[in-house]
Amino acid sequence: MNKNVLVSSNSLFNTFIAEIRNEEVQKDSMRFRKNLERIGEVFAYEISKTLQYKKKSIKTPLGVSEVSVIDQSPVLATILRAGLALHQGLLSYFDSSESAFVSAYRNTASDGSFEIKVEYLATPSLEGKTVILSDPMLATGRSMELAYKALLKNGRPSSLHVVAALASKQGVEYIEKCMPNDTTLWLGAVDNELTNKSYIVPGLGDAGDLAYGDKI
Ligand code: URA
Repeated sequence: MNKNVLVSSNSLFNTFIAEIRNEEVQKDSMRFRKNLERIGEVFAYEISKTLQYKKKSIKTPLGVSEVSVIDQSPVLATILRAGLALHQGLLSYFDSSESAFVSAYRNTASDGSFEIKVEYLATPSLEGKTVILSDPMLATGRSMELAYKALLKNGRPSSLHVVAALASKQGVEYIEKCMPNDTTLWLGAVDNELTNKSYIVPGLGDAGDLAYGDKI
């Protein structure tokens, strides 16, 4: 599986990742969402370099310019609710993309164990299309796997890009086993540990809560 870790090279992207991790900066939820959006924009730009292009003639006031433009916009799929800001960033660049939404939540038992429930699915047909599936946090990899399986009900994509701002090593290994071999992984950074409640360490905490507030 092709894997890209964006913090491996120095760029402004690293500042956005540093800010979403920083517990002081996290107190400003608008900035947290904005940084996730900016991260989504950088991912969109990087992914765009790997897509198929076609030539197009553009009429300017002074003549005609031959440009290469994306042949087919990818479908942008995300997992509610934490994925919304990252999704918005991807959509800002892939501005004519269709969107697909899946809900996945942790149904936690009294002993702290949990199973992931997928309940909501709203997608266009995915048959033969390029799909970018995003979630800010790739912890165990189970939500991403279940979301992908739910999406398959609406057609089999021709290619799949999986995007996460932060991932755990364990989550990446899981995705490498359960997703199609030709999937491309786009990760902001990869951390070594997961807590026994499957939070990424050092990670950043709960991305959904930081973006949209506590849930009861
Ligand atoms: N989801 C989060 O929001 N944070 C984690 O660390 C893991 C999953």
